[in-house]
Amino acid sequence: MTSQQHHKQAVLWHQAQGNKVQCFLCAHRCLIADGNRGVCAVRQNKGGILYTLNYDKVVSANPDPIEKKPLFHFMPASRSFSIATMGCNFRCEFCQNWQISQAVVETGEFEGQAISPEQIVSAAIGDGCKSISYTYTEPTIFMELAADCGKLAKQKGLKNVFVSNGYLTREAIDFAAPWLDAINVDLKAFTEDYYRRLCKAKLQPVLETIEYIAKHTNVWMETTTLLLPNENDSEEELKRLTEFLVTKAGPDFPWHVSRFYPQYKYTNSQPTPSKSLQRAYQIGKQAGLRYVYLGNVPGSKDENTYCYKCGNLLVERIGYTIASNKIKDSKCPNCSAKIAGRW
Ligand code: SF4
Repeated sequence: MTSQQHHKQAVLWHQAQGNKVQCFLCAHRCLIADGNRGVCAVRQNKGGILYTLNYDKVVSANPDPIEKKPLFHFMPASRSFSIATMGCNFRCEFCQNWQISQAVVETGEFEGQAISPEQIVSAAIGDGCKSISYTYTEPTIFMELAADCGKLAKQKGLKNVFVSNGYLTREAIDFAAPWLDAINVDLKAFTEDYYRRLCKAKLQPVLETIEYIAKHTNVWMETTTLLLPNENDSEEELKRLTEFLVTKAGPDFPWHVSRFYPQYKYTNSQPTPSKSLQRAYQIGKQAGLRYVYLGNVPGSKDENTYCYKCGNLLVERIGYTIASNKIKDSKCPNCSAKIAGRW
């Protein structure tokens, strides 16, 4: 840790026995002894008070298409100013952003620079963005920065977006809900074994997050599953996963199924075969999900939005670009079915 480390008191923790603290920002609910850090490596107990160490360590700040998050039913074709700090509360072996998510966990050292919420919000406006996305690493663990930015962004008419592994506690969801507009939650698999072995986390809290957001908040949600060949792509598992989404969240929240490419520690595998992605698409539709999308499959028609009722092509996408959007007043112009989302 460097001497210029910013000491900002953390949110969502309480004092425990002795000089320990318990953090309840994420489902690890770490009990942290004086001097130690939590699993995420970015929150430290100093003398019985929990501090966040990454408030002034922004490692990424640039505009992205909102479709890249991915969010397909939320302000399509808009730009989202995307920020991240280092660290993560998961240890996914296949992480796409491991250079920024896992380095601090391994070394304890931070990179990044102090960019104030005011600077972030004005950069977002200057770049013509309609929202700020807290993304690339896990936004839960930079909640203090996200909250300060998020509240200010809301005042200025911008939306706020989380791209998250869904490991927030209920307290954290309630904390963020007043300024959070949309979230993409990774539902990485539907077995505890997968979460434990490949992510060093648990499935159950993620399921609770998805259900809670759907039923008790006004936050628009989309979910994403990265298909790892022979790990989470069996017909049986995907049936259970999609039935969970339909029954606990409802048929209107889009489900993205994403192709995996080998990376980080998980390199002894092929990219997800097309037939596995196509099968997942069918399983999702059969389960009753109205909107299923395939990601990382260039040229696929399964990036488009079709009316769930009459089958009319509504939004045509080519990668992150919107080729056409026929949705009018949140409805299909052909049959007037309401198309869920924030259009
Ligand atoms: S955010 Fe999660 S991992 Fe980090 S200290 Fe809090 S409970 Fe632990």
